[in-house]
Amino acid sequence: MKKLTTLLCALAIAVSAPVFAKPVKIGMAIDDLRLERWQKDRDFFVGKAEELGADVFVQSANGNETAQISQIENMISRGVDVLVIIPYNGMVLANVIAEAKAEGIKVLAYDRLINNADIDFYLSFDNEKVGELQAEALIKHKASGNFFLMGGSPVDNNAKLFRQGQMNVLQPLIDKGDIKVVGDQWVDGWLAENALKIMENALTANHNDIDVVVASNDSTAGGAIQALEAQGLAGKVYISGQDADLAAARRVVEGTQTMTIYKPIKLLATTAAELAVQLGKGQTPTSNASLNNGTKDVPAYLLTPIAVDKTNIDQTVIADGFHSKADVYQ
Ligand code: BGC
Repeated sequence: MKKLTTLLCALAIAVSAPVFAKPVKIGMAIDDLRLERWQKDRDFFVGKAEELGADVFVQSANGNETAQISQIENMISRGVDVLVIIPYNGMVLANVIAEAKAEGIKVLAYDRLINNADIDFYLSFDNEKVGELQAEALIKHKASGNFFLMGGSPVDNNAKLFRQGQMNVLQPLIDKGDIKVVGDQWVDGWLAENALKIMENALTANHNDIDVVVASNDSTAGGAIQALEAQGLAGKVYISGQDADLAAARRVVEGTQTMTIYKPIKLLATTAAELAVQLGKGQTPTSNASLNNGTKDVPAYLLTPIAVDKTNIDQTVIADGFHSKADVYQ
């Protein structure tokens, strides 16, 4: 009898033990691994998800809308439990997400919101705040004169939120007549080469008379600064950025880029891995915000971005080990 009880106990433990639990299968669909930041997102996400016992399958669409949709379809047919999507175009995924939902797959929008679709959760930074920090840092240096607005990808919901935040700060100064907006362009795919062309044309059209460039991230700032350099204006025109890419961190300490935004990607990516595993297990993650995406109020968790310039780069980006001091001050 004692033997039988022991056997039954052992069986009960074995059946409930996590070793027998099926690993959560995650498909991670990334917009564009050609941009430095997304490589970090992928590495931290995969590392943490695997540590939590999940299997992750990653694909990058390299800025191609159709490719991203077929990659997501492929993940659905592989039988993933959770889709973690960094959308290239947040406006066109409703149908493929409906297919996923019909299969009982959970969907987490990572960093960028997916519009008009039945997604389960959204994790990002406070993106309107990012825009406010960018504009505030610029007007600390120059709160009047000719401003050129360089928005991000027109199909990225974040690009609109960054602009919203920038205008929260700039609009009162525009209304007062202190700031004149001399141009407003959006950069396809957030690509530096597109930003370079836009900036060249803006400089020509304004006879180089531009005081401030409100650039929404580091890749576009990089392209714009190349155009400024060619005119001998790098370091003379104030310009914002975002992501604390290594090249941008170097420009900040050299003085050709006024500021960047540091978003601790490790925190975002590891939180995403935890959320994805929770969703895959049918649990409801904790939220601290909610954003309407046109279909529903999506529960969200928003992290806090940090404005970085020459004066605090050591205490933030470098102290966190995001980049080493030697790499930044090369
Ligand atoms: C992200 C930025 C990034 C940009 C380009 C945005 O959605 O929030 O951090 O610079 O995409 O990849």
